[in-house]
Amino acid sequence: MQKVSVIGAGTMGRGIAYACAAAGFSVIVQDIHEQSLDTCRSYVSRQFEKAGKTDAEASIVYTTELKQAAEDADLIIEAVLEVMELKISVFKELDRYAKPSAILATNTSTMSPTEIGAQTSRPKQCIALHFFNPVPKMKLIEVICGLETSQETIEACFGFGEALGKECVKINEFPGFAVSRMNCLIGNEAMTMVMEGVGSVQDIDKAMKLGLNHPMGPLELADLVGLDTRLRNMEYLYKTLGEKFRPCPILVKYVKAGWLGKKSGRGFYEYS
Ligand code: NAD
Repeated sequence: MQKVSVIGAGTMGRGIAYACAAAGFSVIVQDIHEQSLDTCRSYVSRQFEKAGKTDAEASIVYTTELKQAAEDADLIIEAVLEVMELKISVFKELDRYAKPSAILATNTSTMSPTEIGAQTSRPKQCIALHFFNPVPKMKLIEVICGLETSQETIEACFGFGEALGKECVKINEFPGFAVSRMNCLIGNEAMTMVMEGVGSVQDIDKAMKLGLNHPMGPLELADLVGLDTRLRNMEYLYKTLGEKFRPCPILVKYVKAGWLGKKSGRGFYEYS
């Protein structure tokens, strides 16, 4: 594997693009919005700078054309919004343009790689590679196998994870996989506790950090993930796993108000 394409240059896409470029892969980043590509470009430069390197040698191409991004890649990682219909339509197009040997991966946090892969002519080469935010810092990739994902695809993805300096775990498909399923519940409970007046946002986060040694509080983390993204995760888990995943009303209200967390400047905290 030498050429990696990343589809969607938002919070996760840009982190994945940087991690791949830093590991020496040749990278193409595609997004339908020029603005996202610009943000991605400056993010990648900043990360290289932080690492004491120059990005001049990194091979990254930015494009709005899906065909250009797909046709030469060995591995394509989709990181568009957490909306099943959107992911399926992107995968159908990728399947049309990508070479027959290419692996198609989704960075979904919760959704079924079986369902997405079934819409392509290559379900054996479809898989979910769930990276964590912020990608350069987080060690884990959850490798989620769909019903028909081949052993060869799984092994290639473990090799890819290793080349990025990450640790992989193999998870059999079930909504929310391992991490999102637990993390979404913790976050939702923390939001419910804020709503009930159990404690302040700061104190609930502090309790989890100092009481359970979590590196971040659940509310801080939800702000980092993006409250719109978290709400989509909760809605999918509620639909597939039932009542205990019903999104907390305060989360719904904040998203309606445009309080999307760190990226919009306001969520459970305010950011300058
Ligand atoms: P985001 O909103 O930050 O970025 C999504 C990007 O996709 C945007 O730049 C948007 O312009 C682009 N996009 C939309 N439609 C497109 C299309 N048809 N073709 C190409 N690009 C398109 O979202 P995000 O937080 O990066 O999440 C992306 C995926 O990663 C979701 O599936 C999410 O569940 C998953 N994920 C998110 C996190 C997190 O912490 N944010 C962590 C792990 C996984």
